[in-house]
Amino acid sequence: MRLLALATPLLALLLSATASAVPADSAPPPGASAATARSAPASAAAPRSAVSPRPVLALVPRVASPPATESTVPARPTIHWSAIPYGEARRHDMAAYARRHYGLRTSALRDPKVIVEHMAQAPSFRSVWNTFAPNVPDGELGELPGACSHFVVERDGRIHQLVSILRMCRHTVGLNWTAIGIEHVGYGEGGVFAGRRQLRASLRLTAWLRCREGIVLRDVIGHNESLRSPYHRERVARLRRQTHDDWPRAQMARYRAALARVRCS
Ligand SMILES: [Zn+2]
Repeated sequence: MRLLALATPLLALLLSATASAVPADSAPPPGASAATARSAPASAAAPRSAVSPRPVLALVPRVASPPATESTVPARPTIHWSAIPYGEARRHDMAAYARRHYGLRTSALRDPKVIVEHMAQAPSFRSVWNTFAPNVPDGELGELPGACSHFVVERDGRIHQLVSILRMCRHTVGLNWTAIGIEHVGYGEGGVFAGRRQLRASLRLTAWLRCREGIVLRDVIGHNESLRSPYHRERVARLRRQTHDDWPRAQMARYRAALARVRCS
């Protein structure tokens, strides 16, 4: 019940923002335009959820018209381009990682199928940026390239993009070859749900990415759900069961329920 009470005002906020933000937000930020505009034109990103036929409104009694959410494509939220260094050496290291772990010979992220939500376990955007910027072996697995995620959502709702979604980032073992990563500043999912601005921004970003890239709702997952993903693959045996505890199934069920209110069409 608490979920419904939460999701409904969120939906209203999402829709009101969508209706007013199109002209102002339609121009990508510097750098982010290259990151987002080339990977999949909106017309080409046909979401699987859009295959069901639209109702013929003229034949449906007025009272039976679908809610506005069913024909709403979420607008692009405001995204601040806060790039971390991702030059030739890092691309080389990412491609080498992709070869070791996935048998791929590229650092390019092509046709992503999954969005992974994370908790940054960090107090501020700056601390997250400082962690991801250096191309050094990570402390946990000791591999190159340095860990990163594509986006970071601050507590006040500010959204940063650190890496083009045309490039892989190391954020989720087994899924980096096909997953966009979104970090949330803070230490627990409860804090995200409690902070309306952060949750609203996270949902707007995820909805926009999901619809734009044609990613189905069930493939918006939490890091802790990574091993259940049908897209999970890992060639290094010792890492095949490796995951983290952020955004477990119960929290993601709540998140996806809110996200489901914004449909792609
Ligand atoms: Zn994580």
